[in-house]
Amino acid sequence: MTQIPIQCEQCSAPVKFIPAGISRNTGKHYNEFYSCAKRCGWTWREGKETKPVAEPQTTKDMIIIEKLDEINDRLDKLAIYLKEKLEL
Ligand SMILES: [Zn+2]
Repeated sequence: MTQIPIQCEQCSAPVKFIPAGISRNTGKHYNEFYSCAKRCGWTWREGKETKPVAEPQTTKDMIIIEKLDEINDRLDKLAIYLKEKLEL
């Protein structure tokens, strides 16, 4: 059993669940993971705690995570917008 963190280990912000999907930028599949709600750069995925603490994270990874956050935000806004429109 793995222990899913409930808060960011870097800044103690709440943890945001990012479901698995296909990257819009690269078209590649990615597994579900957790990221910091404050976007400090911290992420966590299952199995991570078995690796050394100083797991290298490439700039590319960071950019992808940031983009995913942006897409999620946009989808949230779109969902709200559509809901409002459909209820008219
Ligand atoms: Zn954080």
